[in-house]
Amino acid sequence: MANQRDCMKVTNINGTIDNTCKCATWLDHWKNFGGGSPPIYCPELSCTERPEVGAHVQRANSTDQQWYIIPLCKGHNAKTGQTITISELVALVSANVSETCGKPAKPLFTSEA
Ligand SMILES: [Zn+2]
Ligand SMILES: [Zn+2]
Repeated sequence: MANQRDCMKVTNINGTIDNTCKCATWLDHWKNFGGGSPPIYCPELSCTERPEVGAHVQRANSTDQQWYIIPLCKGHNAKTGQTITISELVALVSANVSETCGKPAKPLFTSEA
């Protein structure tokens, strides 16, 4: 299990309504662009719900203002504006469609086989 060293803080931003992409769902987007298989549990450290949706987040306490997708349970996805602590093992996948599914050709990845 993740301990406090292997975690990061992210802020849940409500991007799901206005922001759409070519993938069936944002969870599929996450799987398609580096996420791989969804974790068994929601990556929030104390949560034991299943991750059912792809949530838009930003890194908290960071100069990185990019939007990312992570899998979250519906309960945590609904907590817009809240900062949650998640396992660092979960991949942050870019929500920028011009860098992912909006590209004309399939992008190449340098990380995450
Ligand atoms: Zn997509
Ligand atoms: Zn959760």
